[in-house]
Amino acid sequence: SKPIVAIIGRPNVGKSTLFNALAGERISIVKDTPGITRDRIYADVTWLDTQFTLIDTGGIEPDTKNEMFAHMREQAEIAIDTADVIIFLVDVRQGLVDADSKVADMLRRSNKPIVLVVNKVDNFEKFMPDVYEFYNLGIGDPHPISASSKLGFGDMLDEVTKHF
Ligand code: GDP
Ligand code: MG
Repeated sequence: SKPIVAIIGRPNVGKSTLFNALAGERISIVKDTPGITRDRIYADVTWLDTQFTLIDTGGIEPDTKNEMFAHMREQAEIAIDTADVIIFLVDVRQGLVDADSKVADMLRRSNKPIVLVVNKVDNFEKFMPDVYEFYNLGIGDPHPISASSKLGFGDMLDEVTKHF
């Protein structure tokens, strides 16, 4: 069957926006919808001549910091268990925060390939200097994208699919 790619990252980095952009239809849930509870949402994606199944691991949005860390651990476990490749999504506007490092630590323990993707790079010239900060996560090259403007998808998907 098709390879599975999971998008993981802390709340609000743009996981559902990226998922929707790649799925080509609005079947995931972007924030501002309190009380909506969904675990995992799947879509079939075709890139060039390659197909894969994409998972948005967002699910229930946590309220407290404790809930957030439990939630991220759960996401990471789902991703580590089921995915062939993990897209680890971070947010250039917020920069590298402690929660990102915690997710990176969880992912590092898996043997799955991790593609580090830096979202909200709506203007590559303006934000590229901030992208380099994410090298400090120690999980490889950061790949800039804008999920809302659909920028950088080609390079990101080349990187993802080369691990199949
Ligand atoms: P999730 O919690 O990780 O699933 O994040 P969402 O997809 O719900 O997005 C959180 C917020 O970030 C929303 O307000 C999105 O519109 C915004 N967002 C997502 N992608 C981008 C992007 O590429 N650029 C900018 N400027 N905002 C984005
Ligand atoms: Mg979401």
